[in-house]
Amino acid sequence: MTYRVILKRGKEESLKRFHPWVFSGAIARIEGEPEEGEVVDVFTAQNEFIAKGHWQIGSIAVRVLSFKAEEAIDSEFWKRRLATAYAMRQSIGVAGRADNNTYRLIHGEGDNLPGLVIDIYARTAVMQAHSAGMHLVRKEIADALNEVMKGSIDNIYYKSETTLPFKADLFPENGFLQGGSHDNVAMEYGLKFHIDWLKGQKTGFFVDQRENRSLLEHYAKGRSVLNMFCYTGGFSVYAMRGGAQLVHSVDSSAKAIDLTNKNIELNFPEDTRHEAFAEDAFKYLDRMGDQYDLIILDPPAFAKHRDALRNALQGYRKLNVKAFEKIKPGGILFTFSCSQAVSKENFRTAVFTAAAMSGRSVRILHQLTQPADHPVNIYHPEGEYLKGLVLYVE
Ligand code: SAH
Repeated sequence: MTYRVILKRGKEESLKRFHPWVFSGAIARIEGEPEEGEVVDVFTAQNEFIAKGHWQIGSIAVRVLSFKAEEAIDSEFWKRRLATAYAMRQSIGVAGRADNNTYRLIHGEGDNLPGLVIDIYARTAVMQAHSAGMHLVRKEIADALNEVMKGSIDNIYYKSETTLPFKADLFPENGFLQGGSHDNVAMEYGLKFHIDWLKGQKTGFFVDQRENRSLLEHYAKGRSVLNMFCYTGGFSVYAMRGGAQLVHSVDSSAKAIDLTNKNIELNFPEDTRHEAFAEDAFKYLDRMGDQYDLIILDPPAFAKHRDALRNALQGYRKLNVKAFEKIKPGGILFTFSCSQAVSKENFRTAVFTAAAMSGRSVRILHQLTQPADHPVNIYHPEGEYLKGLVLYVE
């Protein structure tokens, strides 16, 4: 049974430019009664085929899988898309390195697979569905993954309890689709990390900060480092290797602090340069002294939706003012936003305002974004979500 979604007149423009979403407001009528997650064909008002993709109830009604009428969405399709993504990771030197087995294999729209994320941690793949469609075909995708990665993974962990639309009644359960190893240590650029895919945030680790952590390492020598919002301590471990004089990690979650301590212990056992504190960021920034000359601010997304934008920008401003006020002269600030709803310009304005409020002289050294294994589909610029600035504060 093929379902046909017919668009309102003129609503095919964004699809002509290969944007991978159909909004519910663009739809004139539907022929047939697709269940959430089924594949539908999309037609213009003139009855011309334009795309096919996963159907879902909500503001994004169709997530496009293909713009070709003849391309079937079958096991060969999943294999082709996964193979293309894997070949790209190999060709850019992220996969297949001796010192790195932590990377993102599938980044949703960025890999022409809207609704799907797969991160690789050593011999375990952690798979996350963000759409009903990807949830329904999870086993087919797991089979394709095995074939494409030919023996380089043993375990596939499915982790979608918090990422699927609640109303779709899918009742996803987190668990292994294959294997079940408890060996959870993976390597990123020669450093070891415990990955908590069972209970951790996202797929267990923030793979997207790899290149930025690596840059930080080059600035760490001899500095006193504050890693605010440390989660698993990624930036802290790189700062230690970079030769920091001391590293303080702060996160409001006791579990995050526990993970950070474990990861430091794994790489730098009994090294007394590191200390971690379970405390609220704003409280810590208020009570701390002016001993730090390298500060990292990597907060959770302050704006999950566009409506929250104003408050989010205020949040970024307040947070950054505190860092500007306390950082030592000659200090370096790594400041980030991972909110998709906050544009590069918005974020820069918030940080700019914070700098002006503190009265410090500030220069931009680097403008950072997400790494190459989190590619942005050029037809879907919304996919660029991570923004960072490295600032020199006089
Ligand atoms: N920098 C990390 C990722 C940070 S994720 C990395 O490279 O892996 C954001 C973290 O902020 C989470 O661990 C969360 O527990 C923490 N957090 C959220 N609100 C906080 C607050 N008010 N104060 C301190 N930490 C907070």
